[in-house]
Amino acid sequence: MGQRFDVFKICSHIRFIASMVSRMCAKDMVKKIDSTKIIYKFSAANKPVEEASPGELVIFETLDCLSGQIKSEMDSISAIDWSRVNGATGPLYVRNTEPGDTLVVEIVDINVDDKAFILTVPGYGFLSDKKFSSKIKFLEADKYVTKFGSLKIKSNPMVGTIGVAPAYGEIPCGDLGRHGGNMDVPILNAGSKLYLPVSVKGALLALGDLHTIQADGELCVSAAETSGEVLVRVDVIKGKQPRLPLIENRDIVAVLAFGNTVDEALHAATETAIEALMFSNNLSFEGAYMLGSLVVNLRINQLVDPKKGVRAEISKDFVKIKDFLTI
Ligand code: CA
Ligand code: ZN
Repeated sequence: MGQRFDVFKICSHIRFIASMVSRMCAKDMVKKIDSTKIIYKFSAANKPVEEASPGELVIFETLDCLSGQIKSEMDSISAIDWSRVNGATGPLYVRNTEPGDTLVVEIVDINVDDKAFILTVPGYGFLSDKKFSSKIKFLEADKYVTKFGSLKIKSNPMVGTIGVAPAYGEIPCGDLGRHGGNMDVPILNAGSKLYLPVSVKGALLALGDLHTIQADGELCVSAAETSGEVLVRVDVIKGKQPRLPLIENRDIVAVLAFGNTVDEALHAATETAIEALMFSNNLSFEGAYMLGSLVVNLRINQLVDPKKGVRAEISKDFVKIKDFLTI
């Protein structure tokens, strides 16, 4: 019995080493955009720093949301250069991608740095009316655990900022909208796919602002902010677009919506969710409205930026991604 166990152990070691070697070889061939290629505004005027074809894997190396400016818990918040916050690595030009198409970004894997930070800034966050001071806290973190002092929190590495260029003008990376941006959606993690409407040739994808963990709401204005690497697979759906960005994972489709108030954002997410339920289940408005009461979960992404972000989550038992590209 013991001997058989050892054989199993050796076999599994060999399998592990083989998978590591094949991963390393595959990684050598994967294009990588380093974190010096950083933008602070999504714009059609940004020059692409790399190109990829639909179906290709690309690694984005990213800085934290303050571009590495925080070096110690004693740093002064007032010394932060606010022109270098919320940067995104890129942009990547995706071949055969045009306005009217949908860019599909599959988050294949996220590797985070071994430390993160979180901060409070007086006048910011959901309890901005309270009197409190600015504070920076360093957190020991990896992709499994984020340590908050002696408390251990299960990590859920996620991409906070990800977007494509708008048709006209420029949008600061700290803002959010139909192009994506600083959406801070906790379910944009490894294994999920983001669907973004494309407005310019090549889409011009950029991403950054990794969090080792963030809860719905991002209450204090920041999450466990970190740097790292994101392995994505880009793809394109030709000639069709969702009204709003979508996230798909194994279980659900989430409609991502925005607004000046949480109510406004939730209303927009709900409208799209109900229309998709009507279409996919061949229901009247009343039917889909009732079904929505049973199967649509409204959740908050963040309520601490000038524009609020929410999502409507619907089980894939009741809607398919293609329905959102048709309504
Ligand atoms: Ca963010
Ligand atoms: Zn962040």
